[in-house]
Amino acid sequence: MRIVDLRSDTVTKPTPSMMEAIMNAELGDDVLGDDPTAQRLEEISAKRVGKEASMFVPSGTMANLVCALTHCARGEEVILGDVSHIFLNEAGSMSAVGGIHPHLVPNQPDGTIKLEDIEAAVRGDNVHWPRTRLICLENTHNRCYGGVLTPGYIESVCQFAKERGISVHLDGARVFNAAVALGVDVTTFTRSVDSVMFCLSKGLSAPIGSMVCGTDEFIAEARRNRKVLGGGMRQVGIIAAAGIKAVEEMPQRLHEDHFNARKLAEGIAGIPGLATELDRIKTNIIYFDITTDKLTPDELVNRLGDRGVKLLSTGPKRFRAVTHYGITEEDIDIALVALREVMGETN
Ligand SMILES: *Cc1c(COP(=O)(O)O)cnc(C)c1O
Repeated sequence: MRIVDLRSDTVTKPTPSMMEAIMNAELGDDVLGDDPTAQRLEEISAKRVGKEASMFVPSGTMANLVCALTHCARGEEVILGDVSHIFLNEAGSMSAVGGIHPHLVPNQPDGTIKLEDIEAAVRGDNVHWPRTRLICLENTHNRCYGGVLTPGYIESVCQFAKERGISVHLDGARVFNAAVALGVDVTTFTRSVDSVMFCLSKGLSAPIGSMVCGTDEFIAEARRNRKVLGGGMRQVGIIAAAGIKAVEEMPQRLHEDHFNARKLAEGIAGIPGLATELDRIKTNIIYFDITTDKLTPDELVNRLGDRGVKLLSTGPKRFRAVTHYGITEEDIDIALVALREVMGETN
């Protein structure tokens, strides 16, 4: 049976060109600073997002944590969206490990945070209050239907922050999807932020890793924090080799995932008992709801699973599907047939 795995773009397997690069990677000891493949990936990545330097880390979660630790001291505060990945899905890492205090402000449906909400959250100079050190943005926004923050919006937040001596970090796990969605160069999103991380292991299909990017000075300090977390790895070129292919070869095919996500969403919108918000779908992530009580969310997931179609239940009546490398247009047809069958059984 053909398996159509729409749970996440993290399920992507390395491409043939990545496997070949892994086999042939030139290796050294990266903790001692001489793995040429890791160094090459770091150079390419920094250049790609328009920063002075970058650093490989094993995961997006570690990338965000390293950045928080590098920007903030214990007791300092980070302003971030209430449905951001950092807040919801990273095990409270900044407070657990760094003693850093999250200050939540509402995410709007498109993934932005209102400037007035950020302004109200910034602390004044008072011995009772934590110091505001950092603002985190997320692009594309995972929980907000893969929504895209525009370069203009990011600029306005960076301008606001700069005037107050606050830094801005961009959780750009899927920032290449944002660039493809708007048809702009990725540097238009990253130019003004103080640090950005992006994932190699999602839509870019590398097996492992994320990149942290910023100034030379920031990355030098971030290397120390990566070491603290145990993220310094030895012959890391073995995985960095796949990362190079991810950065060089994979962004240019992401529009296929966006096309397939839209096709899937349009199909779902036409199935009785299911509903989605078509106008919110901009990239490779879709959410949809079951609007009938005849089927529980678990039943829906299990019955689809029996037909080889996998997706995630993310709320009482809500599901997420993500398109990616390895999901073809025909797979979307398979998924829609399965969804129609399963929903049809309830009538
Ligand atoms: C997946 C994701 C991360 C974390 O990446 P991992 O490699 O899974 O730790 C961070 N931010 C966003 C928006 C993500 O989607």
